[in-house]
Amino acid sequence: MGQERCEQCGNQTPPWDTIHCGSGDGRYELLCTQCFNARIAESTGFTDFENVRFDPIRMIDCHGEPHQFHFQLRLLGDRIALDAFELRGELRAGYRFQLICEVDGDVFVLLGRLVEKIRRALSVRHIDFHERRIIDSTVRGHIEWDESQAGRLPLVVVDGKELSWDDLGRMLMSTEGWQFRLDIADPSEEL
Ligand SMILES: [Zn+2]
Repeated sequence: MGQERCEQCGNQTPPWDTIHCGSGDGRYELLCTQCFNARIAESTGFTDFENVRFDPIRMIDCHGEPHQFHFQLRLLGDRIALDAFELRGELRAGYRFQLICEVDGDVFVLLGRLVEKIRRALSVRHIDFHERRIIDSTVRGHIEWDESQAGRLPLVVVDGKELSWDDLGRMLMSTEGWQFRLDIADPSEEL
């Protein structure tokens, strides 16, 4: 997948670093994240917003596997969202994390908190993918679109790896008769 051109600054930008931004006349413009933030800052008057780009960082999980995290900082009206995610090619895949703060928050503090959140997540493994079983009694992850299921069944990402709903179901069958609790949390919450 190729790069896309920001309609504001004209820079070639990878798809994960672009945002479709609705303009007043009902048209959608493709903007790079920085131009998107500049436009929101202008329209909301939050001109003190630090429109920074954070370099990717590499972190090692508890099994010694490296993970490269990219960041996207977005000004969303009166709040700031910081996303961290892995890429497969030019698309987001694998682990993803988010934190949100008020618009007058310090984005570098937010980055520090997000890195700590990533570190906590990478220190735990929930599934043994070789033996295809749940290691302990808790599974944490996030819900994604499964291309092969057309919206009928989710794809879940656990330990940064994709797992079909079928596979997760099969793993649960080793605890037939046990209870379970399913908690859904928004992307910025701590699980
Ligand atoms: Zn731009």
